[in-house]
Amino acid sequence: MTSNQALFERAQRVIPGGVNSPVRAFRAVGGTPRFISRGHGAYIWDAEGQRYVDYIGSWGPMILGHGHPAVLEAVQKAALDGFSFGAPTEREIELAEAIIQRVPSVEQVRLVSSGTEAGMSAIRLARGATGRSKIVKFEGCYHGHADALLVKAGSGLATFGHPTSAGVPPEVVQHTLVLEYNNVQQIEDLFATQGDQIACVMIEPIAGNMNFVRASVPFMKRIRELCTKHGALFVFDEVMTGFRVALGGAQSVYAGLIPGFAPDMSVFGKVIGGGMPLAAFGASKKVMSLLAPLGPVYQAGTLSGNPVATACGLATLKEIARPGFFETLSGRTQSLVAGLTAAAADAGVPLVGDSQGGMFGFFFADTLPQNYAVVMATDKERFNRFFHAMLDQGIYLAPALYEAGFVSAAHTADDIAATVAAARVAFRALAA
Ligand SMILES: *Cc1c(COP(=O)(O)O)cnc(C)c1O
Repeated sequence: MTSNQALFERAQRVIPGGVNSPVRAFRAVGGTPRFISRGHGAYIWDAEGQRYVDYIGSWGPMILGHGHPAVLEAVQKAALDGFSFGAPTEREIELAEAIIQRVPSVEQVRLVSSGTEAGMSAIRLARGATGRSKIVKFEGCYHGHADALLVKAGSGLATFGHPTSAGVPPEVVQHTLVLEYNNVQQIEDLFATQGDQIACVMIEPIAGNMNFVRASVPFMKRIRELCTKHGALFVFDEVMTGFRVALGGAQSVYAGLIPGFAPDMSVFGKVIGGGMPLAAFGASKKVMSLLAPLGPVYQAGTLSGNPVATACGLATLKEIARPGFFETLSGRTQSLVAGLTAAAADAGVPLVGDSQGGMFGFFFADTLPQNYAVVMATDKERFNRFFHAMLDQGIYLAPALYEAGFVSAAHTADDIAATVAAARVAFRALAA
């Protein structure tokens, strides 16, 4: 049996940092990343044979747990028929229909292969549709790693953002404006001065890339009004929340809170591929008709709508549409968060948490943070010690305090109870 450490050393010789996506390297929490050899249901096993209860679920896609029989069967069957044709297939229609049926604001979708690609394409389409260049995003929201989206806030309000990555020229992000999440005044002020130049406002409606932070109802409502008034498109990045927080995504949650609410454009990924590389962006037929081959906005992909990936996504969407699916998943997730906060309180450790559907977050703080700066000011040292104490007990949480967590339908009440029991041990160690 190969050790995680030996694999990590070998990986670092041929892959930068030993990983193909940075968070996997455990840099935020320290220690050796686990090299996963297999998953089944709610569990994953590392190269040393250690089992973990998996609360990452590939960062969201594995909403049914690993190796769900109906999904496996669909993928195996699709693979036998061929991996990729570069020509249209019926399954792409089926998946598009399945998405549209569950998300009323979307009349047409285009399938792509990653959330990054979907977000990048959505921005291009919003710019093409409005003839405007400026885009607005919020600090702490992640929309994939397209150049124009790797931006942090500038020094003053509505100053141009600064690239957060080397290799992104300042000119490329000069049209990206970055505001504080949940700050109504900032978006008011921005639209008052530059409203007629803004192509779109892009948001994670329930942010999952700064742990778990909800957009407040007044904030959401005001952005909707401002976008409508000024002719900008309101883009929901539901790559994480889509088919995860509810069958209709976060937009269905906000539609329940704000009468008549809907975004203009939506971006999906993660769950819609069920663990295969698949993502999508969608909007009204009018906006989507601007895409090539019908319209002037170019967008394409060799593996887009891949037959095996669409089979995996379709089978996943079919399972989560079963009656009661989200009620059960939400209940499990709520019981996890309630169990963690109660265990922390018993140990005298300040902890708050929140969840929606199968997505959750918790913070070593007294109140739920409302924006990125506050999230990043929560107790990192405590989080890191807690993370390792849980990992040592076979509970695999996201290895950074700015990431959300995910519960799957395969997590049983016993798994939750075991997790809370492990947390009791971990909190006591923290308090000592
Ligand atoms: C994961 C994620 C993305 C990027 O998706 P990839 O498939 O990793 O490119 C974009 N937006 C949000 C909200 C995400 O959570």
